Amino acid sequence: MEIALQVAAAVWGAWIALNLLMVTLAVTILPVQQVHFDGFRARLPTSLPTLLAPAEIAAVVAHEHGHGHHLHTWTNLVLRCLLLTPGPQRRRRQELEADDYAVARGHGAHLASALRKLSSHPDDVSRAERLERM
Ligand SMILES: [Zn+2]
Repeated sequence: MEIALQVAAAVWGAWIALNLLMVTLAVTILPVQQVHFDGFRARLPTSLPTLLAPAEIAAVVAHEHGHGHHLHTWTNLVLRCLLLTPGPQRRRRQELEADDYAVARGHGAHLASALRKLSSHPDDVSRAERLERM
């Protein structure tokens, strides 16, 4: 039994180390493939200015700062380390919280137009529609 607990603790420790390594790689050397908040700052792909107007980019950055304000990245990291993968409902709620953060700073309309340009995923279309009703 004691061996089983030691193995479980070692595996869990390795899992935590892997998660911290992934965060470190994402913050340091991995190329930015999509817009996200890395826990410290908003990360934008270099192609974004070819896709969005400056006001839309500002809205996207405000949304990402909303993730930072609400500590979504760190909350999700802790959940993953506890083997509690953030589910789709949590992720959706976090997206709406970040949207609301951008809306409160006057970026709602431009965030909606940015979402429509960047994604045709039904969740993003739904978010754009919600933003346009606000
Ligand atoms: Zn987001």
